Amino acid sequence: MYNIEMEDIDPEKTYDLIVLGGGPTAIGCAIYAARFALDVLVIGKIFGGLIATTHLVENYPGITSTSGQGLMEMFKDHMNSLHIPYITDEIRSIEKTSDYFILHSFFQKFKAKSVVIATGSERKKLGVTGEEEFAGKGVSYCATCDGPFYKDKTVCVIGGSDSAAKEALFLSQNVKKVYIIYRGEEIRAEPINKKRVKANQKIEIIYRTNIVEIKGDNNVRAVIFDNGTEFEIDGVFIEVGSNPNSDLAKHIGIKTNNKDEIIINRTSETNVPGVFAAGDVADAPFKQAITGVAEGVIAAYSAFDYVKKMNIEY
Ligand SMILES: Cc1cc2nc3c(=O)[nH]c(=O)nc-3n(C[C@H](O)[C@H](O)[C@H](O)COP(=O)(O)OP(=O)(O)OC[C@H]3O[C@@H](n4cnc5c(N)ncnc54)[C@H](O)[C@@H]3O)c2cc1C
Repeated sequence: MYNIEMEDIDPEKTYDLIVLGGGPTAIGCAIYAARFALDVLVIGKIFGGLIATTHLVENYPGITSTSGQGLMEMFKDHMNSLHIPYITDEIRSIEKTSDYFILHSFFQKFKAKSVVIATGSERKKLGVTGEEEFAGKGVSYCATCDGPFYKDKTVCVIGGSDSAAKEALFLSQNVKKVYIIYRGEEIRAEPINKKRVKANQKIEIIYRTNIVEIKGDNNVRAVIFDNGTEFEIDGVFIEVGSNPNSDLAKHIGIKTNNKDEIIINRTSETNVPGVFAAGDVADAPFKQAITGVAEGVIAAYSAFDYVKKMNIEY
């Protein structure tokens, strides 16, 4: 990766654009920004983003089938071919001055005329007794990362989304049995994944059921259903959605909706001039890599337009 080190950062330099994030939205945005000849820097906490945690991506146009990690390797190659600088860091606050933005990480500060926030989201917790205690000891939020530890064991996936279905399908390759435990009447997976789940002998769906507690000794041993049943299990994979990483934005007065998503318009503008947002952190109802990339690309164009006008005024 065209990674730059902290010591290579000139704290007095003002970038045209700083893109926050290391997922598909941020990298898609940076690729377009570089091609618009903007002086762009990408700052991401962890390269790859959420998509890098899934084993199978079959809906990114032009790529029939790959892993999330594989997709992001392609993004990285594209970014490198344009010599886009990427720095691994976490931005903790944004400050607005009259002419530019100052972005603060723990040890460093960065200046930019415009900012794109593509910080995605964090996995939601289930919020039940035992979840925190057994995190990493049988409770997981990533089947691709932790699934291989459950060879020939019995596990459950909590949730009914397409992501939950895909997690169950991935786990079924290795484990003895996977239960999908879902509070609704019917899982909401893409039809192709729903069909795969239903045809998979190792997967069983338990509907209309909530987990109220996770129990164990050193590791998870059981979950308790809301009807009081104690259900023996070796691993619990929680896939109940995510919360947007929008705190940074809120601190500079950027408007969010009641789900804490950043409100953007069709040109990815926020209510604060010069700050744009895109991808899972923003307020689109349907969130995928391709939709995030599209919003990121629009944000790059809007930033280009903003910086061009700003330069004329100077
Ligand atoms: C199990 C699962 C399967 C999925 N399968 C598919 C699929 O098949 N196809 C598909 O298109 N989508 C899929 N998705 C959805 C897809 O992963 C997301 O829509 C996509 O990753 C959103 O991209 P993003 O760049 O907006 O956010 P993210 O991918 O979440 O990336 C956000 C980035 O911001 C960084 N960051 C956060 N805070 C800061 C900060 N303060 N400073 C610096 N960096 C920060 C993070 O480290 C991360 O790199 C799946 C999701 C899950 C959970």
